[in-house]
Amino acid sequence: MNDSAFSSLNLPAAQIQNLNDMGYSRMTPIQAQSLPLVLKGKDLIAKAKTGSGKTAAFGIGLLEKLNVRSFACQSLVMCPTRELAGQVANELRKLARYQHNVKILTLCGGMPIGPQIGSLAHGTHIVVGTPGRIQDHLRKGTLDLGRVNTVVLDEADRMLDMGFADAMEAILEETPANRQTLLFSATYPDTIAQISSRYQNKPAMVEVVESA
Ligand code: ADP
Ligand code: MG
Repeated sequence: MNDSAFSSLNLPAAQIQNLNDMGYSRMTPIQAQSLPLVLKGKDLIAKAKTGSGKTAAFGIGLLEKLNVRSFACQSLVMCPTRELAGQVANELRKLARYQHNVKILTLCGGMPIGPQIGSLAHGTHIVVGTPGRIQDHLRKGTLDLGRVNTVVLDEADRMLDMGFADAMEAILEETPANRQTLLFSATYPDTIAQISSRYQNKPAMVEVVESA
């Protein structure tokens, strides 16, 4: 009996092999708590610290729902900084290796917007970005979120600290109401609870308490 084996999840054999190739022999605690719920399509609030493996906790789930034949943005991951968005995109690219031609775009501020507009015009499956720049693209009409099935708020408390609350909400408003919404945060202040109550549907809450 081993609950923390990836093979305990209902994943394609090719993804189990891919995870094995990545050196992921078992789930981290946050993955073991989150993935069964994420794969069932549930909304989730996950409290966990940096380095706990949150990216795969949502990434494996959103990749399972992806239709690579449709060049519509189906997953949106919001991150507080360009650096974190880059890390998430890199990890998602590795997790996506078992599928063919998954397109993952990063849309962050501090980067020229022209090339991003060009890339979006070619179609994408997954967008990872910072709220300000994602909102810029929505205002310009260069990003369409009407086919998004999964939204991830990664490091949500940090995004609020950085003043992204309005942008996050404006972006969520542009996505379908029946989306799956996954919220990851190291802390759970009232401001996060408010966003959750407005934008999540009966979220499950999981928490990994670190031992010293
Ligand atoms: P967080 O977002 O919680 O800070 P990450 O998703 O960035 O954490 O993962 C932290 C590190 O752990 C990364 O280097 C990642 O490749 C590695 N990692 C994630 N899940 C596993 C796993 N199941 N087995 C081994 N390493 C893992
Ligand atoms: Mg992370």
